[in-house]
Amino acid sequence: MLSDLKTDSELSVNAWPCVLEHPTEPCPGEEKSILHRAAGCCRKLYCANGHTFQAKHFSRRAHCAVCTDRVGGLGCQVYKCTRCKLLVHKKCHQLVTIQCGQHSLPSETTMPVDPSSMASDPAQPLIPRNLSTHAALEQVDEEHEAGNTAESGKASPGFGLQDFDLLSMIGRGSYGKVLLVQLKKSDHLYAMKTVKKELVNTDRIRTEKCILEQASNCPFLVGVHFCFQTESRLFFVLDYVNGGDLLFHMQRQRILHEQHARFYSAEIGLAFNYLHQRGILYRNLKQDNLLLDSEGHIKLTDYCICKEGLQPGDTTSTLCGTPNYLAPEIIRGEDYGFAVDWWTLGVMMYEMMVGESPFHLVESSDNPDQNSNHNLLQVILERKIHIPRCLSVEATSVLKSFLNRDPKERLGCCPQRGFADVQEHGFFQNVDWHRMERKQVAPPFKPNLSGGFGLDNFDPQFTNEPVRLTPVDSDIVRKIDGYEFEGFEYIDCLTMCEEEWV
Ligand code: ADP
Ligand code: MG
Repeated sequence: MLSDLKTDSELSVNAWPCVLEHPTEPCPGEEKSILHRAAGCCRKLYCANGHTFQAKHFSRRAHCAVCTDRVGGLGCQVYKCTRCKLLVHKKCHQLVTIQCGQHSLPSETTMPVDPSSMASDPAQPLIPRNLSTHAALEQVDEEHEAGNTAESGKASPGFGLQDFDLLSMIGRGSYGKVLLVQLKKSDHLYAMKTVKKELVNTDRIRTEKCILEQASNCPFLVGVHFCFQTESRLFFVLDYVNGGDLLFHMQRQRILHEQHARFYSAEIGLAFNYLHQRGILYRNLKQDNLLLDSEGHIKLTDYCICKEGLQPGDTTSTLCGTPNYLAPEIIRGEDYGFAVDWWTLGVMMYEMMVGESPFHLVESSDNPDQNSNHNLLQVILERKIHIPRCLSVEATSVLKSFLNRDPKERLGCCPQRGFADVQEHGFFQNVDWHRMERKQVAPPFKPNLSGGFGLDNFDPQFTNEPVRLTPVDSDIVRKIDGYEFEGFEYIDCLTMCEEEWV
């Protein structure tokens, strides 16, 4: 839970073990200077080895100076020295041996990085792109904290919905709408994903935000520019990918040539490889989460069911995903790993090249059971996958290899070789991977952008809808625990410079 601050253990380490008459009043002996400016509430100081720690919500991730594990992330508390800015876990603060002021820069892991440095060696630690000094990192952090006024339920001061013109609806997700918006200050277009607080799982939101921040460095993933909140909603301001999603295009095209499918699947493979190398399992490949940019390159979006923190060989077990794309090991209730993403790529490649799902059910009104999800899961587990004879030998082979029901035998899943096996498969033999990962290979299809803002590439079902955010019932808003979303605010450093935010 994000709200683990409310546990008894938190109260027991309080440096002023007294009950406050009013939360904004200091305890006896406590100085007014430690009142938190933005929230107007009391912040305690914890002294250890010359440091004076203050509990903060640090929305970006860093490493604890004591145990070196991750600290921070949405809603996670960090102890930060008010003088030397050292970051540690609450549980580690009394174990700190480094003297105040004697440490080097905090080891940030999610600052935007220079894509060119990433491309040459993705295993290297990420290097901050714009902010090279400790002072600059701190400056951004303080700004985040100034925006963390979720307790008041109001939009973040100086930055929020009022800064954008809402132009059009472009999509609808499970938790809210996706809108095309324009930043008033610069006329820059963004996609704004809105999420109703009453509906979300806070862990999922934390994961989605954390991955969005990392995704900005991969050309095949949608990244985030700003995050902010109002009383009732969370807002992710994302790259606007104006070519529309693959579902929209497949509804018009039905089948793609092998060459065309090869291009998309190679770029998806690169996106998966980027995520897997960072311990992220995507689990959400489907046509409506695959967007095309203005040139026709792909960008994956929607990280709400991703799993973070997986090392090679690690597994997880949550039953989640879209039924048609569920890998057999998930359905069988087994622990599973990165192999499930390669299965989903097999399903999507089949859909592209054959024009229907490999587990397509013939609709029957006589036997409604045949159309049920249960039946679909049986089909995924058991039915022989029919590959049309019109497909090339290599296409047939790659589909069979990805759609292998045994994850150990599946293409892309060999522990030592992983993505290298995909790259060397005969289906991809003519792909110049070096150029492909730099987006230097010309896409087979360029979306039509003649209509205003590329809106012709989005379903009229959405674009014809009125552009508004429906008011949320005030009883529901009152029940929302504002604290749960503390630390959600975010501004991407590069965007901040481009938009001359500071
Ligand atoms: P959900 O998590 O609820 O499925 P998504 O993030 O997948 O929400 O967004 C829903 C739809 O909105 C997508 O299928 C896509 O059509 C559109 N969309 C989402 N993000 C963007 C974006 N960054 N640019 C353009 N369209 C987008
Ligand atoms: Mg989606």
